[in-house]
Amino acid sequence: MFSPPPAGRDLCYTGVVKKRIEEISAAFGGKLIGTKWMKQHVCETLSYMPEYITSYITKNCWFFSSLDDAWAFTFTGNDLKDKHLIFLSDDLLHQHEGQIRYSIAHEIGHVMLKHRNSVLERQTKREIKKQEKEADAFARQFMR
Ligand SMILES: [Zn+2]
Repeated sequence: MFSPPPAGRDLCYTGVVKKRIEEISAAFGGKLIGTKWMKQHVCETLSYMPEYITSYITKNCWFFSSLDDAWAFTFTGNDLKDKHLIFLSDDLLHQHEGQIRYSIAHEIGHVMLKHRNSVLERQTKREIKKQEKEADAFARQFMR
């Protein structure tokens, strides 16, 4: 039988998570380029991760999706120098929440595990397969 948690506790928990999500969002500065929906999912996914991951990703990673109010976007100069760019497609952002968070965590895994994952670099199928497995294992740790 389903019994909801006591209202007081639930509200308190929601408040803590909300504050954490706001902190993470602020730490990114301008590096989340996309819809509110996308930003919410990225910050929520990070809120389940330990501080060293959150701080590395908010410093070194840009997230990019379609925008509500622009058709195109240009990165200029050193915006992305030594940084990582994670693109989240519209199709992904239309999936259910668990899938979205899993995919975001998987991509964060590639960054944290220092995978090469570059369009400019050729990798063997074997190397790619190994990296995908590692990124999946990383992501699974943070799913609830
Ligand atoms: Zn992958």
